Amino acid sequence: METVEYSRSLQWVGNLRCPACARLTPGWRSSGMSECFPHFFCSDCSNVIHREADKELVYEAATPELLAQIAATLPVCPCGGRFTPGAGPKCQHCRAEIPLVADAVAYLHNPNMVVLDGAVCFSDRRPPYWVRIVA
Ligand SMILES: [Zn+2]
Ligand SMILES: [Zn+2]
Repeated sequence: METVEYSRSLQWVGNLRCPACARLTPGWRSSGMSECFPHFFCSDCSNVIHREADKELVYEAATPELLAQIAATLPVCPCGGRFTPGAGPKCQHCRAEIPLVADAVAYLHNPNMVVLDGAVCFSDRRPPYWVRIVA
């Protein structure tokens, strides 16, 4: 699998603080210009999926009906979990969920996709790639 490395010095690399253990997990956050919406995290790990086909569905409006329609087509994750609306990425240290998604319908239009260190990003336009945050 392709590996994409992001330097900690980049503007779009930062840390998420775990609500359970308070430790930090580094990650890359896409800019608003990237329009990485909608995206969905795995129920069990920090992997994330972003599909252009879903974007076409929600471009004009985000509704509970569209969310349900997309959710029914979200695939399983290689870890055994499933990409799920409302799921957040997981702490690298204790695996607790970091709650990024307060409202799954409103989140359909959130363009700032967070890919934590060690997570895999899935898309309908390119093969999966593994993200590493490096010095
Ligand atoms: Zn933690
Ligand atoms: Zn997973």
